[in-house]
Amino acid sequence: METTTTTLASTSTQPSGQPIQMFDCMIHLMPNKMWYKKFMVKPIKGKEYKGVSLSAAKNIAKGEIILTECPIFTLPFDRDHMAVTGGLMACNSEYKRMFYDMFNCHDETSKMTREMGIFATNGIPCGTDFGSGRVADREGVFVISARINHSCVPNVHGQWVDWVQQIEQRATREIKNKEEICRGYIDLLKPRAERQKELLAKYWFKCDCPACKLTGAELEASDARRKKIRELLDKHHDGKCTDATQGLEEIRLALDCIEKEGLPMYESIFYFFAFHLCAASSDYPNAREWAKKARDSHLMFCGPTLEDLYNRLIADPGCYPDADSMTGRTLWGPT
Ligand SMILES: [Zn+2]
Repeated sequence: METTTTTLASTSTQPSGQPIQMFDCMIHLMPNKMWYKKFMVKPIKGKEYKGVSLSAAKNIAKGEIILTECPIFTLPFDRDHMAVTGGLMACNSEYKRMFYDMFNCHDETSKMTREMGIFATNGIPCGTDFGSGRVADREGVFVISARINHSCVPNVHGQWVDWVQQIEQRATREIKNKEEICRGYIDLLKPRAERQKELLAKYWFKCDCPACKLTGAELEASDARRKKIRELLDKHHDGKCTDATQGLEEIRLALDCIEKEGLPMYESIFYFFAFHLCAASSDYPNAREWAKKARDSHLMFCGPTLEDLYNRLIADPGCYPDADSMTGRTLWGPT
């Protein structure tokens, strides 16, 4: 989250206007504004300083990586002041300065020191993966990703890549030149009232994204769709679906809700659930088609981490541990 008056440009030791290589992006440093190959960081216009935002510097394709970034440092969710200051001690002076430039939306108390507040305001989970179901056990502070503002209909999705210890921000849809780049700070499958409550408590702002601006019947429908996606995600994740035909109908409903809510990063996990039901029902032809959809969707929004696994399932659905575990039947594939 970014609402400080200091930009990255002003914290850098590089002379203004000189391009430098930072993470995987070429940065051209200018006073209060930076241009990258794919996005630029600039102050939000207004009478008062309202922080900075990231905007596309070109048309960006769906699935395109806009940023790959290492954290300043990471810590477990269960951390105290000593842990945060210990992490900071391992950083060089430039990273320390960048850390202290970040916004702290928490009041300073003995239980929430300034360092803990900055970490809590800007920390991003390292490890959450919708495709594999893996949940992060650590958070990291990222200099640029922390400057990406929130939307409940984000146009980028951050994926932690464990083996290189980096986060990749990928476009969830086509982004037009100059359009603001936004990511989701919280669980987006909650209804608006809960999202707003959480954003206010954790980050101290009121979201006015397209989903939060809805009123009346449109708001009710949006809340119901997000609730349904969450309900079905939990049900299928926990293996509570014992009727393959009903399960596939539910997956069709979930995919429809995902499309209407503009949250395509949730697609691949439902494609995998559909693969599971078809393989478990010994319907290998349709299992292959769902596995292809899961592979391609995960590749687009989360990267190649599961590509080999999906290719093995496509080549031989019978090697899946749950294959043939339900009553055999012919189901259906993606349309
Ligand atoms: Zn919102």
